[in-house]
Amino acid sequence: MPSLQSVISCLSDYDPTALPVAQANQIIEGVAEPVSGIEQLAIREALDRVLAEDVISPIDVPAHDNSAMDGYAFASADLAGGNEVALTVIGTRFAGDAAALVPAAGQAVRIMTGAVMPAGCDTVIPQEFVQGVDETAGATRIRFAADAVRPGDNRRLRGEDLAQGQPALTAGRILKPADIGMLASLGIAEVKVRRRLRVAFFSTGDELRSIGEPLDAGCVYDSNRYTLHGMLRRLNVELLDMGVVRDDPQALEAAFRRACENADAVITSGGVSVGEADHTKAIMAKLGDVTFWKIAMRPGRPMAFGRIESHGQHALLFGLPGNPVAVMVTFYHFVRAALHRLMGASVAPLPLMRVRSAQAIRKKPGRTEYQRGILGAGADGVPEVRITGQQGSGVLRSMSEANCFIVLGHEQGAVGAGDMVEVMLFDGLV
Ligand code: AMP
Ligand code: MG
Repeated sequence: MPSLQSVISCLSDYDPTALPVAQANQIIEGVAEPVSGIEQLAIREALDRVLAEDVISPIDVPAHDNSAMDGYAFASADLAGGNEVALTVIGTRFAGDAAALVPAAGQAVRIMTGAVMPAGCDTVIPQEFVQGVDETAGATRIRFAADAVRPGDNRRLRGEDLAQGQPALTAGRILKPADIGMLASLGIAEVKVRRRLRVAFFSTGDELRSIGEPLDAGCVYDSNRYTLHGMLRRLNVELLDMGVVRDDPQALEAAFRRACENADAVITSGGVSVGEADHTKAIMAKLGDVTFWKIAMRPGRPMAFGRIESHGQHALLFGLPGNPVAVMVTFYHFVRAALHRLMGASVAPLPLMRVRSAQAIRKKPGRTEYQRGILGAGADGVPEVRITGQQGSGVLRSMSEANCFIVLGHEQGAVGAGDMVEVMLFDGLV
C-alpha cells in the first residue's frame, strides 16, 4: 500500500487545516487498497458479497428463439399475401415443449409465451389481434389483418439477453438478489467472492455511558457505536465492537493494538477535535502514519485518517468526530467509499439529484455542507426539499427524520427559497 505521506506529497495545495472534501477523499482513495483473500460460495450465500472474478455466461440466454406472447407463430412471408392473412393451425406448442412442428407456407402453430419458435417461424401474432378462429372439418383456421404485426414481432432471439461467452457479471460487483437470480438462470451453482472485510470500532470519551449504566451529571449515552454498528451492518462487513474505551493512555493503546491486529479497518469516534485534552490523538500518532484534518465541511470538521500498525499487522484508521451527526456524515462521505475500496467492490458514487429548495438556507462558500432534508412533493406536485428543523451536529433526530442529505457544494453560497439544490437520497444508503 502507498504511504500516506507519498499520496499527500502529490498534492500541490495540501492544507490539513482547511481540507476540501474532494481532496480528503482523493487521499483516502490513494491509500486504501483492496484486501486479498477469496472464497467460493454457493450463490445464495453470496448475496451482498463482492464478486472476485468475472462470471462468463456458459450458455445463450434465452437458449432458443422463443415467443414473447401467447398467440400464433408463422413465417413472415405469409404477411405478403394481401390485407388479410388466413392461416391453418397445425398444432400447439407450450413452454418447455420442443416436439417437432414444421409449419409450411400458409400454416401456423398456436404458441404460448416462452415456447420455442417452431422451425421456419419468425413472427408471432398475439391472440388478441386474431379476428376469427374458424373450426371446419377438423381444421382450425385463423384470420388477422396483415398490418397487425411486422416481420419478427413478438419473437425473442436466442442469446439476445446474454450471449454465451459474454461476461454476465463483472468482478467488483456487490451481488444483489437480481444477480443471484441471474446466476441461477445460467445454471451456475457457486461463485468466487472476496473475503469479508473485518472492521473494528469503539467510542472514546470519559463522558460516555453505556446503556444500562446510570447517566451521571454531564454524561451522555454512547450512541455512536450503535449508528456505526447499523451502518457497517449494511455494508456486510465482519464487526468487532470494542465498546467504550476510557481516556487512559494504556487502555487506548491496548484497544488500538487489538483493533489493528484483528481488523482491516478501525473506526473510532470522539477525541480528534482541536484542543481535545485526551490521549486519543497521541496514541493514534504513536501507532502509525496518521494525519489530523480539519475538513472544510459541516458537520464533521475534525477527522483523523491514516494507517496504524501493531506487531506487523496493519489497519486503515478513521478517527471520526464525536458528534453523532458528524459520525454519520463522515461515515457516508468518506468511510463508506473507502471500505468499498478495501473490500474490492466497484460502487458508483451515489447520485445527486437537483430539486427545488422550499426555503432559504444560509451557507458560506468555502466548505461543503450536508444538511439533513426531507424530499417530498411541493404544493404544485413538483419535488421539493426542506430541512429537518434543528441542524446542530449533535441532533441525531435531524438524521432520523431526514430522507436525504442536501449537499451544498464547496463553492456554493446562500440558497434562496425556490432555488435548485442537490440532494443525495438515503434510500439504499441509510
Ligand atoms: P469530541 O469529538 O470528543 O469532542 O465529542 C464531541 C461531542 O460529541 C461531545 O459533546 C461528546 O459528548 C459527543 N460524543 C462523543 N462521543 C459520543 C458517543 N459515542 N455517543 C454520543 N455522543 C458522543
Ligand atoms: Mg471527547
